[in-house]
Amino acid sequence: MRSMSKRRSPRPSVPNRTGLVFDERCFGHRNPPSGPSWLRVPPFERPERLAATFRALEGSGVLHKVERLSARSAPRTALELVHDASHVERVLAEPRETVMLDHEAWIGPGTRTAALLAVGGLLEAVAAVVAGDLRNAFVIARPPGHHAEASRPMGFCLLNATAVAARWVQLARGAARVAILDWDVHHGNGTEAIFRDDASVLTISLHQERLYPSDTGDVDAPGESVLNVPLPAGTGDAGYALAFDRVVEPAIRAFSPDLLLIGAGQDAAASDPLGRMAVTVPGFREMTDRAVELADECCGGRVVAFLEGGYSLRHLPAANLAILEGLARLPSSFPEDPVGCDVPHGLRDIEREAVEAAA
Ligand code: ZN
Repeated sequence: MRSMSKRRSPRPSVPNRTGLVFDERCFGHRNPPSGPSWLRVPPFERPERLAATFRALEGSGVLHKVERLSARSAPRTALELVHDASHVERVLAEPRETVMLDHEAWIGPGTRTAALLAVGGLLEAVAAVVAGDLRNAFVIARPPGHHAEASRPMGFCLLNATAVAARWVQLARGAARVAILDWDVHHGNGTEAIFRDDASVLTISLHQERLYPSDTGDVDAPGESVLNVPLPAGTGDAGYALAFDRVVEPAIRAFSPDLLLIGAGQDAAASDPLGRMAVTVPGFREMTDRAVELADECCGGRVVAFLEGGYSLRHLPAANLAILEGLARLPSSFPEDPVGCDVPHGLRDIEREAVEAAA
């Protein structure tokens, strides 16, 4: 097993570059609208999430300051490191029309290409970061993955990209320990279930309590290296910062990973239709800055973020840009939240209590 340098900055010869994976072929996966045919409520998880993000990245000029990586389809062998062969078969079936596989999990004609590129894009990014070719990276792809279990797709998630990447980097690149920090507003139940009995992968999920799935994500969930921080509705930047102080940073320092993966779902944003949290764009920047500092301290700066959820077309593009700028250590385009929702500020006692319960 190859050893990874610990607690060292990247070699001086390593370019201090941030990678970006963004591939329009991920637009081809389509979830169906809901409601009666005369209403056609658009699905939450849709290609516009990426298209709007790309416009923000382009408009800000950040694309000139990061390195674009091309995504390649993940090999089936990598998917089967965490998923059952029959699950992979179902997800990659390429039906002619949209088919529901499980709760809020659909596949259609463009799903196979998008799903393979989303996971494959993350593998490319991880490979470049652990090889020292890039300092860190952000993979902006879809469909998301963190709800997908070994044999069950759910909640818009088909293949669990961060779980595949964690196992792959262990087996193919000799990483001993991988930490997965999931700040999506929903519980990262799939990732947790996949690594529940595996002390070599730390899974930390910050999420709105009992949101989705409604019966997982409690502080006392069993597991070798499982940490859940269920937070009350309305938690904003201050509550997430406290969770970093009291839970995330101490846990990752103690675990001492070789690589930090971030399940970056931006649906804790104040305007998100699927969460009831109050995080602002500067709040996402702060979480990214803290993850980058943590990775510098623990694992030579190796951190790779993967887009999970985030369904507000107001907040998601700016939050994704703020994360990419944070990884690249660029000045933020958003000293203030560009959306400006009316949200409570400061820390409430129920947030303090929730964080202390997880600490
Ligand atoms: Zn989510």
